[in-house]
Amino acid sequence: MIVELVNDLKNKNLEAEEYVERTYEKIGKYDKYTNAFITIRSKEEILREVKENINKGGKLAGILIAIKDNISTKGIRTTCASKMLEDYIPPYDATVIEKLKKEGAVIVGKTNMDEFAMGSTTETSYFGPTRNPWNLERTPGGSSGGSGAALAAGYVELALGSDTGGSIRAPAAYNATFGLKPSYGTVSRFGLVAYANSLEQIGPMARNAEDLGLLFSIIAGPDDKDATTLDLSLNFEFKEQNVKSVRIGILSDILEMSEKPVSGVIKDVIDKLSSEGALIEDTKLGNAEYALPAYYIIAMSEASSNLARYDGVRYGYSKYMEGNWREVYAKNRGEAFGIEVKRRILLGSFILSAGYYEEFYLKALKVRNLIKKSLDELFTKYDILVSPTMPILPPKIGEVINDPVRMYAMDLNTVIANLAAIPALSLPAGFYNDLPIGLQLMGKYLSDIYLINISSYIERNVTKLYNLTAPIKI
Ligand code: GLN
Repeated sequence: MIVELVNDLKNKNLEAEEYVERTYEKIGKYDKYTNAFITIRSKEEILREVKENINKGGKLAGILIAIKDNISTKGIRTTCASKMLEDYIPPYDATVIEKLKKEGAVIVGKTNMDEFAMGSTTETSYFGPTRNPWNLERTPGGSSGGSGAALAAGYVELALGSDTGGSIRAPAAYNATFGLKPSYGTVSRFGLVAYANSLEQIGPMARNAEDLGLLFSIIAGPDDKDATTLDLSLNFEFKEQNVKSVRIGILSDILEMSEKPVSGVIKDVIDKLSSEGALIEDTKLGNAEYALPAYYIIAMSEASSNLARYDGVRYGYSKYMEGNWREVYAKNRGEAFGIEVKRRILLGSFILSAGYYEEFYLKALKVRNLIKKSLDELFTKYDILVSPTMPILPPKIGEVINDPVRMYAMDLNTVIANLAAIPALSLPAGFYNDLPIGLQLMGKYLSDIYLINISSYIERNVTKLYNLTAPIKI
């Protein structure tokens, strides 16, 4: 637990040198296989900061944290896993980074991800795929796969990810760790390199519920630099929330669409929740089949507009500068964006073009509203909604990457929360052939802390799965 680690460092039960050494030894030994980091800072620099911060104090005094590489870190390269930003060093910190630094956290490095967070497996990275520490032949999920793998491998106890349609929860599920996609507006997006603004949030990733809550309480809160943040502070009190008499709706349509090994493990957990006194009922999300197309239409449209800024003049790769501007623009972008990013820019631009806008984009917005409405209705009957986080086991490296439609289908269960702005949390549910399976909890808008506290009860009393470290088999 972070609270104990902070104390141990403060009381010198654990020396800063040993803590840093231990971390670097693990990363040095295993990250050539897992490829969780794009950038790792130097040991000397980190050790100095850890020592300084232990003296200064704070809720994370001296704690090492891994940051997804689409979150701006002053003076530390931030690539978005793209050739486009291969050498980009931000001159400023994202608001979440400022908040972490204020509490004494020390950034150990920047984690691998799908290029511009577009993907579900961390294979679209320009820096090569991240491999799942539980099974190196498998993907760690994505797009925050580096952060998930860094937690599962035990390199760090805390990480940040971003979640536009599942990018925190997929890696949480596939790495047997914890991840929260916060309610929209609770965490500042200032300094997050935008993919699809109306859907995404930065969120905490950790190895247990308590640490997840601590990290969330630090990064959440209003921010003048992000007008979409809410002017309220969520009162964070971490306590196990017993599931007795909690009304749990099982999204049975989604559950039945999952692979057998996945639904099997999830049903076991549901049975256990029921014997703990939870009030379990099968239910359905109306329009579930439209969630995925609506999500991809909205996400690609926003992406095509956001990524227009990489013109090689103001931002990004600028190998070609001479000649006709159109050609220069096309050449730089043609060379520096990967195939998945290009696909989305093209489709997004098409969707937003005259005539098609009404046919696709407006329809998708209507579906988004309908989904919100059906969720509002469900939350009058249930305190939380439960489903598998991912419909399939972690795919093998190479298995879905060349089949975009199959890859998009992996996000079936996760995109719902982004469309509806509600919080969703993934925690370990169990294993099938040593492959992790995640349980997703969704709650009504701003019930983030409630979800964290429920997940804490589940990890301690139901699944008994937390603080797991993968036995990396080389
Ligand atoms: N897999 C989804 C996508 O590619 C979600 C990604 C994310 O949440 N950043 O859009």
